[in-house]
Amino acid sequence: MTLRVAIVGSGPSGFYTAESLLRSVDDVEIDIVERLPTPYGLIRGGVAPDHAKTKNVARSYEKTARDPRVRYFGNVTLGEDIGLDALRGMYDAVVLATGAAIDRSLGIPGDDKKGVLGVAAFVGWYNGHPDFRDLDPPLDTEAVAVIGVGNVAVDVARVLTKTPAEMAATDLTDYAAAAIHAAPVRDVYMFGRRAAHHAKFSNVELREMGQLEDSAPVLDPAEVPDDVPDDTASTMSDRDLRMTRRNLATLRDFTTMEAGSRAKRVHFRFCASPVEILGGERVEGIRMERTRIESDRAVGTGETFDIPCGLVIPAIGYYSEPVDGVPFEGGRSRNSDGRIEPGLYAVGWIKRGPSGVIGSNKPDGAAAAAQIVEDCGAGAGAPGRAALEKHLQAHNIRGVPFDDWKRIEAAEEAAATPPAPRRKFGRVDEMLAVLD
Ligand code: NAP
Repeated sequence: MTLRVAIVGSGPSGFYTAESLLRSVDDVEIDIVERLPTPYGLIRGGVAPDHAKTKNVARSYEKTARDPRVRYFGNVTLGEDIGLDALRGMYDAVVLATGAAIDRSLGIPGDDKKGVLGVAAFVGWYNGHPDFRDLDPPLDTEAVAVIGVGNVAVDVARVLTKTPAEMAATDLTDYAAAAIHAAPVRDVYMFGRRAAHHAKFSNVELREMGQLEDSAPVLDPAEVPDDVPDDTASTMSDRDLRMTRRNLATLRDFTTMEAGSRAKRVHFRFCASPVEILGGERVEGIRMERTRIESDRAVGTGETFDIPCGLVIPAIGYYSEPVDGVPFEGGRSRNSDGRIEPGLYAVGWIKRGPSGVIGSNKPDGAAAAAQIVEDCGAGAGAPGRAALEKHLQAHNIRGVPFDDWKRIEAAEEAAATPPAPRRKFGRVDEMLAVLD
């Protein structure tokens, strides 16, 4: 008997699930269903364009996709081209690996003004995600406020302040490069509602902000404690404590850096929480409230200050898009270590929320594979791929197989201006036109 599994979503968590299944079951058929023609989820649409090394992991995903037991069905949308019940009827197991693509909003007065853009949208725009190709962010401003002090916030601050030369060898989309490099942005503010020792940056990412050609970090030394306070340190793992101490040392270095002739500034501000977006129809500024820390929580002090800016980018987390027929709570699927119910599983951010790095998805894949084997054994004779192909044909749905993705990729590489590795298509019809 063949075990037949559909994985919905082709990002890291989807591919690690496929990899684990291939390792643990010989007689398995795995179909990866992906909404876009292009695979790899956040590797293509989320990882910063100047972090090329991080994207190299796609090579191992390609090896998985090329296993004869695996088939990639790009350009097929769950809930539109095929419903979850229909898919479950075709396979022994269905794994949801659809991530967390919806921006959390600030929920403060004025956050619906033109010029407030969720970070998933902004990052998707500069990375060529077709959903955001027409975002047209209002970059005609000298100051941008980024809310949140995590790695995504730092990615955005860096992309906004690197020079064209620093971005030349990246896969930043050409339309975003043109808009960002023509923009008059000089000041990027990064606001953390809690203190410097609560910031979520990885140290490598934070240090990069002190190594930019034309941008300097700006930080008041009074904002950086000498060490992590004991009551916070006692709640941290050794690893987190080490990283936080490294971050504090880096931030302390920033306080002594000379900006010299650099034209741009990234201002790190801690203990400041957004309370109102100011302006008329369009953002003209942001009102921040100073906070004090009580038991590692930010508590408002009532004291406010305003920063004029034309663009506000909350980088404060995401939630997952609900899937019809799947119980949701807290912005992700309700599951028990990934098992939604026997035959239906979640991995990655739709399982555990938007946290961790790419490698954090590996254990999810392994857990899902083990649960599938436990619940479904060697399979129960589900029709699998043959039924999916029949369904797509009957409904005139144009799936994009992996070899066709490789043709799209080759066209992107051929269109690049060296040293850029590729010139990404930002629209699905541009991608499909390569195949016609
Ligand atoms: P994150 O690390 O969880 O950071 C979110 C930030 O938003 C925190 O500073 C948080 O502050 C703040 N925040 C949340 N709600 C807020 C509110 N209502 N008002 C003000 N601030 C608020 O999330 P992320 O940056 O989106 O990253 C997601 C995951 O991807 C992380 O695990 C990250 O490490 C990973 N990632 C890694 C890389 C890399 O390795 N290079 C790059 C990008 C992303 P509090 O702490 O006070 O809640």
